[in-house]
Amino acid sequence: MLQIDQYLQAQAARFEEELCEFLRIASISADPQHRPDMERAAAWLAEQFARLGFASEVIPTERHPLVFAQSPEVPGAPTVLVYGHYDVQPVEPLQMWLSPPFEPTRRDGNLYARGATDDKGQMLTHIKSAEAWLRVRGRLPVNLKYIIEGEEEVGSVSLEQYLESHADRLACDCVVISDGAQFAPGVPAITYGLRGIAYYELRLSGPNRDLHSGSFGGTVTNPANALVRILSALVDERGRVQLPGFYDDVIPLTPRERRQIAELPFDEQQYLAQVGVENSTGEEGYSLLERRWARPTYDINGLWSGYQGEGAKTVLPATAGAKFSFRLVPNQQPAKITAALKQRIAELCPPGVRWELLDLHGSPGVLIPLDSPYVEAAARAIERAFGRRPVYTREGGSIPVVGKFHQVLRCPVLLLGWGRDDDNTHSPNEKFSLEDFHRGIRASVWLWEEIACLQS
Ligand SMILES: [Zn+2]
Repeated sequence: MLQIDQYLQAQAARFEEELCEFLRIASISADPQHRPDMERAAAWLAEQFARLGFASEVIPTERHPLVFAQSPEVPGAPTVLVYGHYDVQPVEPLQMWLSPPFEPTRRDGNLYARGATDDKGQMLTHIKSAEAWLRVRGRLPVNLKYIIEGEEEVGSVSLEQYLESHADRLACDCVVISDGAQFAPGVPAITYGLRGIAYYELRLSGPNRDLHSGSFGGTVTNPANALVRILSALVDERGRVQLPGFYDDVIPLTPRERRQIAELPFDEQQYLAQVGVENSTGEEGYSLLERRWARPTYDINGLWSGYQGEGAKTVLPATAGAKFSFRLVPNQQPAKITAALKQRIAELCPPGVRWELLDLHGSPGVLIPLDSPYVEAAARAIERAFGRRPVYTREGGSIPVVGKFHQVLRCPVLLLGWGRDDDNTHSPNEKFSLEDFHRGIRASVWLWEEIACLQS
């Protein structure tokens, strides 16, 4: 293994130079003017793979091309699919950047550029690790496939279509994604769970026009009154969602998970101070991190009705509406939640008001069992590179593409973030620590070996 370490050291400067080259391509997916840059970024990647002797292909889509690559076959070895994205966020406001976003600049051990951490730098770690194996050992310990998209920042539509129609081509034993952050600098994390979501719009309509509340109040149902009554009945004072069967499919936290979450260095006061509130609230019986990561929740996202202007207007509004959503946890199914919600609204809606529920979008949560051998392999690889065991975390939000991989390819998805929370993703002065870049490459090198060991 010494030789691979030596190779990585000897090539470190060149790896950084190649990352800079990649970062100079202004591949902003949202901006049609940058279409040629999208093509250039895809071609740049295909060239990287070609140099390694991988079969690679730039796949045109309706929007931005996908890049697929595959290593020469290693018979009998497991297959890993690496996912990443070469598109980046827009750079405005430009005047806030200390150095131009597409002129990578080194400052204080960091490389500053749009896309440095999200996701060009992190993605490249998994290509350079393959290079190290091939140049030093002449072969890879695992079969590698790569699928790299150019639409992550604009909704991943083409990738999702490709995944559905090419599941065979992408078939693998596990998926590896590095597009996130460590738990804290030097405290690497494996993210093994994501929440899902079920998002709705409720529209209520009552009388055929806005009415005078003096003439009609107390005689016909006010849709705004009905709306708040329905919305508030969906949760009780203890933070429990009030839908029939809502908790039936929830996978409870295991004692091991609860212990691990409790041991994380997490400062609740700082978390609350950040958002300017004094106390946390939520479902009784669970810690803040447990509620945020592993318990389902309900939030009103917007609501409207009646008079919104200055001063008073005595109106009994004709309509009222709201957008609201449930964050779901594995194994809750959005379709089942929708059915229960319709039943509940039908019960709660008073006479004199008609209701319509729009199902805006839903996706289930993802949970990779902590005792999965792939999680263990990743933990060992990370420990070898970072010098400490990773912590295990979950994510309160959802990453639609992760859910899709999990659902279509039916294998563990390893979320291994090499970045940091203060990397300014999507903001001015995005950066990636060069130390993290090189640690990421090392972790990836050992990951291929640890995964290979699972089958021997
Ligand atoms: Zn990203």
